[in-house]
Amino acid sequence: MAEKHHQIVIIGAGTGGITVAAQLLRKNKSLDVVIVDPSDKHYYQPAWTLVGAGTFDYKDTVRDQASVIPPGAKWIQEYAEEVDPENNAVKLRNGDTLTYDFLVASPGIQIDLDGIEGLKEAMGKNDVCSNYVDPDYTWEVLQNFKGGNALFTQPATPIKCGGAPQKIMYLADDHFAKSGIKDKTNVIFATPGTSIFGVPEFARTLMNAINRKGIILKFYHKLVKIDGENKKAIYELTATDESNCIITVNDDNNVIHEEIVGTTRLTIPYDMMHLAPPQSAPDFIKTSKISHQEGGSKGWVKVDQNSLQNPDYPNVFALGDVAALPTAKTGAAVRKQAPVVVDNLLKLIAHKEANNKGYTGYSSCPLVTGYGKMVLAEFGYGNKRMSDPILSKLVDTTKEQWSMWILKKYGLPYMYWNLMLRGKA
Ligand SMILES: Cc1cc2nc3c(=O)[nH]c(=O)nc-3n(C[C@H](O)[C@H](O)[C@H](O)COP(=O)(O)OP(=O)(O)OC[C@H]3O[C@@H](n4cnc5c(N)ncnc54)[C@H](O)[C@@H]3O)c2cc1C
Repeated sequence: MAEKHHQIVIIGAGTGGITVAAQLLRKNKSLDVVIVDPSDKHYYQPAWTLVGAGTFDYKDTVRDQASVIPPGAKWIQEYAEEVDPENNAVKLRNGDTLTYDFLVASPGIQIDLDGIEGLKEAMGKNDVCSNYVDPDYTWEVLQNFKGGNALFTQPATPIKCGGAPQKIMYLADDHFAKSGIKDKTNVIFATPGTSIFGVPEFARTLMNAINRKGIILKFYHKLVKIDGENKKAIYELTATDESNCIITVNDDNNVIHEEIVGTTRLTIPYDMMHLAPPQSAPDFIKTSKISHQEGGSKGWVKVDQNSLQNPDYPNVFALGDVAALPTAKTGAAVRKQAPVVVDNLLKLIAHKEANNKGYTGYSSCPLVTGYGKMVLAEFGYGNKRMSDPILSKLVDTTKEQWSMWILKKYGLPYMYWNLMLRGKA
């Protein structure tokens, strides 16, 4: 039960933790930076969409953690189990305690398979798959699919990369067309949401893709149960007006054979289902004083939306999926958050004010709409479109583009491993 002090403790060696550590040490290699993470592997998760569609090798999304730890940083391969900001301390699972001058929390998001009845039992077998859990199995399911209902869905909780549940659907639809089974397939997207995408410029393009592909789109559908044995998904309808939900039960068009159960529930039978599981902040964060203890952001780390500094504990910062920020949780967001965190940390170390308020909610979602087609949705707080000034001069990123697909498949992975994780982008 040792106690050790470090200048900067970073929790999580994922996208946020490594990017911040690399940028800090690039600016000042004498800093004492320690990174806590139990995982011996680092994952490039954005490519899991492509893995699930059989167009990217899972092996190429994984590297040894040791290979991405920046030179000069110390890696402690252990779980953080408690954050005690009153005492500037992080307790580890092995009983050791790390005290810090500054803390950066970036432990990502937790997958809650217990969050939907029957999900844990159903996941990963009998044609229930998720790119969030095992993208190789998604590809197996797509290849074995022979027609019927292909159901794509997402939970009512916040999730990382909110576009991912629909990206795999567009790719699957394309795959079904190429395999000659499209005419005996119903592709269904059932979501608790009320629109296909929050930013109108991109929503229009996605609605065109949905109409072109003949996808059955169902809003106000909250998944509450999976009956894996009988291949049925049970939804709670969250709108009182049935027409909002697009229900076809009493319709001649009830080709998907959905059934009303009681007054507010509906069952959709599936032949395959892809879903994003419910997600939340890691449990040890939820119970720490650095997180919101109540309200809509309960459980997520409390930060100033522009400086990423905790208002109650000014020596604590958070970035990435764990931070309570009203924007999409993506690696692209981390790329814009990290320099702000680094700048503010260096200012505090130099006994200056942490006055960098430069993060304005940038996030981006590379929405692949088929093999060889992608819409690059970039936006900031308030779902305001926020395009890269150089890129938007060259291409109309609100439209499906082959060039953006090439960026997603080759450009972004290269940039991630070689520039971002090395503190160069
Ligand atoms: C299917 C899928 C598709 C996606 N597509 C895109 C995309 O196209 N574009 C995009 O920008 N983003 C995408 N993302 C999201 C992106 O991967 C995340 O937003 C990003 O990785 C967040 O970085 P992070 O550092 O917050 O978390 P992560 O990168 O997940 O890292 C968290 C780290 O914390 C560690 N950790 C967890 N618990 C503890 C603990 N108790 N103690 C210490 N360490 C801990 C983990 O081991 C992990 O290494 C996608 C994600 C998925 C799953």
